[in-house]
Amino acid sequence: MFIVQKFGGSSLANDKLIFNAAQKIIDAHRNNNKVVVVLSAQGNTTDNLIERALKINPQPSKRELDVLLATGEVQSVALMTLAIHKLGFSAISLDCRQAGIFAANNYGNARIEKINPQRIMNEIEKNNIVIVTGFQALNSYDDVVTLGRGGSDTSAVALAAALNADVCEIFTDVDGIYTADPRIIPTAKKIDKINYDEMLELASLGAVVMHSRSIELAKKYNIKLVVRSSLNNSPGTLIGDENVEQTLINGVAVDKNVAVISLIGLSDEPGMVFKLFAVLSKNKICIDLIIQSIGRQNTKDISFTVAREFLDETINILQKNQDFLCYDHLIFDNTVAKLSVVGAGVASNPEIAKMMFEGIYNEGINIKMISTSEIKISILINENEIERAANAVHNNLLDIKN
Ligand code: ASP
Ligand code: MG
Repeated sequence: MFIVQKFGGSSLANDKLIFNAAQKIIDAHRNNNKVVVVLSAQGNTTDNLIERALKINPQPSKRELDVLLATGEVQSVALMTLAIHKLGFSAISLDCRQAGIFAANNYGNARIEKINPQRIMNEIEKNNIVIVTGFQALNSYDDVVTLGRGGSDTSAVALAAALNADVCEIFTDVDGIYTADPRIIPTAKKIDKINYDEMLELASLGAVVMHSRSIELAKKYNIKLVVRSSLNNSPGTLIGDENVEQTLINGVAVDKNVAVISLIGLSDEPGMVFKLFAVLSKNKICIDLIIQSIGRQNTKDISFTVAREFLDETINILQKNQDFLCYDHLIFDNTVAKLSVVGAGVASNPEIAKMMFEGIYNEGINIKMISTSEIKISILINENEIERAANAVHNNLLDIKN
């Protein structure tokens, strides 16, 4: 078999864990498999590097920040390769240039566009275990760009597609995908199998386990994904399309990386929303939940959410465009959080919405925004109530599922 394995930062945080991961890699290699490994930076390395950069310059150039962040993964691949050598096996580390991973030019949030796996294949032919840096790629200016936080999952799936691998194993510090984050919701249960679409919703809603772009890619190229612990041998969660029974509810996701911006007093006429989103899209600001108030006295208000790291930038852009957008004033709140329920049953079973809102009501929590789709319901509430709300909703909904 051809296997791509990916180890996250928590599975590489110290020397002992590096050797533990090295052993898993060697086991796969010894079972007569071709093995390519993608690594994240160790432990909190990426956070620490960002902090150091911001201390020196609070408004860092995105290009230089990428140069710095990419070093985290470079350290990991070299150390891992040394560990594998020490255990008596041949391995070689490759950075994104050597591995032939190319992306578009967006610094800090690039998308992989092409992989030329020739060098990787040559090394595999030489019976090397190949250890590749995750999270980074080369752009058309020959600069290193990073793929957004958590992006090494996407590196792994993209490589699995390019190499036509049989499976992509994502090793992490939990046993698989859960119906909720077990650190927040103790009653969360492990999911054995889940299909791409439901997993995509969970990932994009901040269920934190995987980079959502990696699931999109896995779906597009039909890559079998297994999320499992690097610390034990339990089978983990299979993400794929085969034999995955549809369940009513897959999980409850919490996202604290949310801020809401409201534009007050927009004129109540056709085209205002278009103008607003034209400005946001031109500046590559991704928005999530949106609500528009009903008009009164020829004005209306629009609120939408962005990831917190884009709050300052978004406010800046909106202020610069105040004349063009003709709003009266702007308010924002970065003490909110989003709670979502995901599952194929959302559209077909009105009981789910009722149980969700009942859980919130029983806790006496006020809802600020709501959005729904075929397979999810998301609400925005105060950040300091999110844990209570998530537990109430999860416990209420688990009853329906079973
Ligand atoms: N090291 C990067 C991060 O912390 C990429 C990753 O871990 O996937 O976001
Ligand atoms: Mg990760």
